[in-house]
This record gives sequence, structure tokens and C-alpha cells, in this order.
Amino acid sequence: MQTNLADFIRGTPDGDTADATLRKCVHCGFCTATCPTYQLLGDELDGPRGRIYLIKQMLEGAAVTEKTQRHLDRCLTCRSCETTCPSGVEYHRLADIGRAVAAARVARPLGTRFLRFALREGLTRAWLFGPAYRLGQFFCPLLPASLKAKLLPRKKSVAAARRTHPRRMLMLAGCVQPAMAPNINAATARVLDRLGIATIEAEGAGCCGAVRLHLDDHAGARADARRNIDAWWPHLSAGAEAIVVTASGCGAHVRDYAHLLAHDPAYAAKAARVTLLARDIAEVLAGEQAALAALLRKSVPATRRKVAFHSPCSLQHGMRVRGAVESLLQAAGFELTPVADAHLCCGSAGTYSVLQPELSLKLRDNKLACLSAGAPAAVASANIGCIAHLQSGTSTPVSHWIELLDQRLES
Ligand code: SF4
Ligand code: SF4
Repeated sequence: MQTNLADFIRGTPDGDTADATLRKCVHCGFCTATCPTYQLLGDELDGPRGRIYLIKQMLEGAAVTEKTQRHLDRCLTCRSCETTCPSGVEYHRLADIGRAVAAARVARPLGTRFLRFALREGLTRAWLFGPAYRLGQFFCPLLPASLKAKLLPRKKSVAAARRTHPRRMLMLAGCVQPAMAPNINAATARVLDRLGIATIEAEGAGCCGAVRLHLDDHAGARADARRNIDAWWPHLSAGAEAIVVTASGCGAHVRDYAHLLAHDPAYAAKAARVTLLARDIAEVLAGEQAALAALLRKSVPATRRKVAFHSPCSLQHGMRVRGAVESLLQAAGFELTPVADAHLCCGSAGTYSVLQPELSLKLRDNKLACLSAGAPAAVASANIGCIAHLQSGTSTPVSHWIELLDQRLES
């Protein structure tokens, strides 16, 4: 696609990224068919090709309107369009740039601004979010149904892994997951411990920065990335093999650190290394299959439990990890039920479920209908946002797949 970027962005890092991305798009429209918001709304401007066109116009100097912003805000950043695109268009980079430009030109209503501020500042600080979440769990019966639905049921804690091993991996704690589902990282540490790998949650690391980026705070997202790199670097220098991430939304974002800090002379090389070492736990275990199979042979499950797996968009489209979790669960003796439209988003999408509740709930209900078709005893996923969002619409237990594997190894 020909481009003629306006002076305000031409020659800047964002301008160069946008220009390269736009030029790859041949406007074929293949991506439209797999876009969840296009499927729901049937409007070209609520699909990737239409949004790319809107962003192009904006970056070429056209006026930005509330309508432009609305179509961009309705995008889930699920990246399903990237998987479909035959030209390799990295749509999410363009969407981030387009949204930031629109945000700078169009003032959102006061209530929306406050909500976005509260999400940006509240979700990204574990010390603030944790106590607030526990308070919410304590007063759960008194809360309105809309808030109650956002809380996960409390689970019995699993014991932490405490052994040391020569092999070590860093593990991202993140911002909301430690309060919402502390067992996910505990289960991961236990599984890796059985395989002779110790895990370290580095002091000083925190939110990956995805929340800030998606709420148009690009400088804040870069600051989060730098803080994490500073916290991880001494451990990486001391031989930590990888950075294990158990929330694929965070994993996909950490994989983008190289791009995010490419123009920061002090951090570009470190960010590139972090990008190379960031792994979803499924990727780590896929590399330890022989040892894992030996562990699994030591015990046989009494029954084959039926599980429906929801692969988060950030895992399948963002990190391009496809089939690994399914293989691991099957190897562990679980029976996976078929799930139609597995490429489509569940509607969680970071803060999307709060900012676009109507579309988000439609997508959730469509996803739950697909997941429940095979009458599973449990639903498994790989991202805390998807887990909480799906659980809000079903009584079938929803958990991270690593928790199921940990329980299986315990049997
Ligand atoms: S499939 Fe790719 S090249 Fe075709 S319109 Fe979509 S983004 Fe552009
Ligand atoms: S990221 Fe998802 S919602 Fe956004 S345009 Fe692409 S497919 Fe559609």
C-alpha cells in the first residue's frame, strides 16, 4: 500500500514502524473473515482492513474523530488478523500507534478518562491491587453482581517449591495474577522443581507493561519494561536460562520488549536478549518432554478427565504457540473435548472486558458455548484474564492448565 505520512510522524520511530507495516498490507481483506469484532458487528471499519485504512488516513494528516477512535477502541488487539494475513502485517504495532495518535487528538468523556486512569494505575501495582482484590473476596456476598462476577473463587493454596537446583529460570509474577490466582505460579514452580529446575521471582520486577501500553501510556509501558529488565539482568548474568511467563498476555508483551526499547541505547541490547529468553511455560515444558514423560509414567490417573482447552489469543496469535498445551495435556492423560472456532477471542483482552462490556460478554458467551459443547468436567486456559472472564459465565471450573498438570503429577 502506498503511504504519504504527515510531517508530525514521518521519520519518527513510530512513523517508520507504521510506514513499514502499512506498506506490507495489500488490502486483500483475508483478515476480515477471522476478526471477532467484524463477525459481531458486520462493519468493515470494525475489521482489520478498515481499521488499517482509518489509521493510514489519520497518519497521513486526516482529521481524527470520535468515530475513528470508537472503531479503534472496539479492536480487541487479539491479533487473529495477524495469523490470517498472508503478507505478514504486524497489525498490533499499527493499532498501538493509531490509538495513541487518536488519544492525543480526541478527548474522551470524563467518566471514560477516569476509568482508564483507575485501570492503568490500579491494575499495574500489585501492592494496591492485591489488598483491594482480597477485600473484594472477603465482602463478595455484599458486592453487586457485576463486580462479584469479576472475582475468582478462592482455592486451597498449593505448597510452594523450595528446593534449589543448578538449573534456574526466572518467573514473572506480574501484577494481578498473584492476588487472583497465586496457585498458577506455585504450580509452575512445583512442576519445574520436579524436573530439576528452580524458579526465581526477581525482587523489583512487576507488571510487564501491557496494561499501560493498551491504555495509551507508551512511556509508562517502556518504564515498566526497563524496571523488569533491571530486576532480571543480574539473574540472567548469573545463568538463569529463561524467563518463564504463565500469563500469555504478559508473555506476548515481554516478547515485544526488543521492539519497545529498540531506540533506547541503554536498553536495546538487553531488551533483545529478554525477548529471546521469554518463554511461555508450555514452551519450556515442550523442551523437557522426556523428563516429563518419565514423571508421568510413575503414576496413572484413575480416570481420563474431560477438559476443554481455550487457547488465549496472546498464546496462539501473539506468541504463536499452537498445539503445545494440547499435546502436554493429552500426554498427561486428559481427554480434550473438541472446541469450535478456537481461533476466536473470548472477549477478555486485558481491560477490554471493562471498557467494552457489551461486545466482551457476547464473545464470552459464544466462547463458552463452544467450550461446553463436549461436556467437559473442566475448562483450562493459559492467561489469567481469560480464566477470570470465562469463569464469570460458567459454573464449570476454569483454571490454568499448569494447575491440572501439577495435580496430575501429585496423584
Ligand atoms: S490480510 Fe493482511 S494484507 Fe490483507 S488486508 Fe488484512 S492486513 Fe492487509
Ligand atoms: S486484532 Fe482482533 S479485533 Fe483487532 S482487527 Fe485484528 S482480528 Fe480484529
